[in-house]
Amino acid sequence: MNPVRRGATLVRIGGIAVRADASWLVAVALVTWSLWDRFDHDPRFGGSAAFPMALAAAALLFLSVVAHEVAHALEARSRGVPVGGITLFLFGGVTDMRAEARRPIDEFALTAVGPFTSLAVGCLFGLVATTADHLGLSGLAEVFGVVGWLNVGLAVFNLLPGAPLDGGRIVRAIAWKVTGDRHRAARIAAGAGQVLGSLLFALGLFEVFFVPALFTNGLWLAFLGWFLTSAAKTEMTMEELRQTLAARPLRRFTARGFDPIPADATVDDAIERWFRLYDRGAFFVADEPSGPLVGVLTLDDVRRVPPEARGRVLVRDVMRPIDELPWLDADTPSSAVLDQLEGDGVTVVFDDGEPIGLLTVDDVLARLRRDEELGRSPAGPVTTGAGR
Ligand SMILES: [Zn+2]
Repeated sequence: MNPVRRGATLVRIGGIAVRADASWLVAVALVTWSLWDRFDHDPRFGGSAAFPMALAAAALLFLSVVAHEVAHALEARSRGVPVGGITLFLFGGVTDMRAEARRPIDEFALTAVGPFTSLAVGCLFGLVATTADHLGLSGLAEVFGVVGWLNVGLAVFNLLPGAPLDGGRIVRAIAWKVTGDRHRAARIAAGAGQVLGSLLFALGLFEVFFVPALFTNGLWLAFLGWFLTSAAKTEMTMEELRQTLAARPLRRFTARGFDPIPADATVDDAIERWFRLYDRGAFFVADEPSGPLVGVLTLDDVRRVPPEARGRVLVRDVMRPIDELPWLDADTPSSAVLDQLEGDGVTVVFDDGEPIGLLTVDDVLARLRRDEELGRSPAGPVTTGAGR
């Protein structure tokens, strides 16, 4: 389950989109309900005050979660790590970083700032609660007190040492600093995450079966443990992929030999004679068959043209000019592509100043799968036919 980049945008903070996944509504309902239950059982606020208090506390708690994620996002951005946005989901929030930190210290800082923010918010709310208590505003004091402690809990839980939790990322940053080997550090943190997730899962099951009073808590813990374990496994897979790719230059994944699409062809022509025939996500466009390459046409550009207009619209009018696309040198480690390509994005591969091929994430993954099926080919470029 990867909640990143899903859901409706709620608000933008400092240019960073805060989105909510549908599962977040479940979290809102559960949190509000359990806070309501708690306030309702307190003889001081039972009855009509309990529900509004629960709503206020839930709202404060979700604002706190947003503050935690915004702290990650702003710190990341200030350290040169692009941020795709923040997504709220069943288990809280997650910040979508579009690249790896460049130095261990960056990774450490952009991670630690999250739990630190939760801790600071917790202390602040504690202060508000104490003040309200002195003024005799017991309802207000209770709301801020409870959410203050929940923030402290949030900080402590997030500091548990296993990826993808913040604590795991801190372990990764430290291991990276100590070993000087980012891949190894990432594998250590992801491994720790799997152990941690399994422990929480086991603890949850123990509560479910042997501690009747903690049945619901145990169920929740087991579910959370399962989620963390699978997220840590995904991290491990991604890291292995990253390492595989790091060892191979882009040249190896860049297929050549496709004729460029003529700029004056219609979109229909491009679909029938290129996209339907070859299983690639993008093709070069040239003014004349052997002339210079002027642009790139992707499957996405094609899809955006309504079917009834495809016989009229020319490739020239929907292509992307070649100099506006991201590019990489053919000798760059292929792992760079994971950072540069977003979804359906396309990167132009250059060799000696000449564009030699196009690459999408799908192309790279398809090639890796093929390698697995056929065994690795001897090193060297994958060239088919003429130089394009
Ligand atoms: Zn965090």
